Amino acid sequence: MLGGIEAGGTKFVCAAGQKDGTILDRAEFPTGEPDDTLRQVIRYFKDFPIEAIGIGSFGPIDIRPDSQTYGCITATPKTAWRNCPILQTIKSALDIPAGFTTDVNAAALGEASFGAAKNADSCLYLTVGTGIGAGAIMNGRFVQGLSHPEMGHIYVRRHPDDGYKGNCPYHTDCLEGLAAGPAIEKRWGKKAYLLADQQEVWELEGFYIAEALVQYILILSPEKIILGGGVMKQHQLFSYIRQHVKKRLNQYIDLPDIEHFIVPPQLGIHSGAAGSLVLAERALETANREAGK
Ligand code: ADP
Ligand code: ZN
Repeated sequence: MLGGIEAGGTKFVCAAGQKDGTILDRAEFPTGEPDDTLRQVIRYFKDFPIEAIGIGSFGPIDIRPDSQTYGCITATPKTAWRNCPILQTIKSALDIPAGFTTDVNAAALGEASFGAAKNADSCLYLTVGTGIGAGAIMNGRFVQGLSHPEMGHIYVRRHPDDGYKGNCPYHTDCLEGLAAGPAIEKRWGKKAYLLADQQEVWELEGFYIAEALVQYILILSPEKIILGGGVMKQHQLFSYIRQHVKKRLNQYIDLPDIEHFIVPPQLGIHSGAAGSLVLAERALETANREAGK
């Protein structure tokens, strides 16, 4: 049995399951004070005979194994979690091998292993929620270098009719500052789900997401783009996004059928937890290899 954690800014989803992505048990804990939240998470897993754990965490996080702060959350606006050694705390309490990556990388891995991208060698998973982030997999590996990508903070072309200044504390009008859930709510002065009938809201939102997707497509060339997160519950966004992506690429790239290219997560809300189980399995394989088993 394996453990998977989708550590989000709002809640931690914990799953006990198997390497084929089957989730046998699942629990959620609200993201409160780090000590308290991690204590609940650790207590949960102590009831299961898990051999390894995978953690997909909100970030930014330190993913460099040779760094002193490997496994810590770094510059998050959630100040209580800044510098929190999330990986080390969980790994040492459970005393099992642990894999660690971003929440969106874990979701991309779940979809690549068992979901919308299971027949592809590459994919991009974008979440549009409280923040915006994306993870990409190319030939079975996460796209990363100096650190993990921060695709939610790219600068996109402004819509000429949009007077909202943006609310990213670091960049003001980056993609997240213009198009994450809180930006929609500040721009229009209402909770996003109450704006469902206002076409102009979703047309503008679709414009910004599509502007970003065009850049990801031009740079990474993923075979599938999977869009998740709370804001994407507005399903009408998909057609605005698909239309605008096609228009902006202007037939320069030979895209697959757009309906099957830009898609919702096939695993629904379970992409991250399923991907974390795969991370756990990989951590177990590495540990066994190192132990010469
Ligand atoms: P998080 O990003 O915190 O993990 P979510 O992915 O659920 O959580 O995103 C929360 C954001 O999604 C909120 O900012 C909210 O405005 C937005 N959201 C949630 N439900 C809906 C909905 N039905 N329609 C539009 N936006 C929504
Ligand atoms: Zn930003």
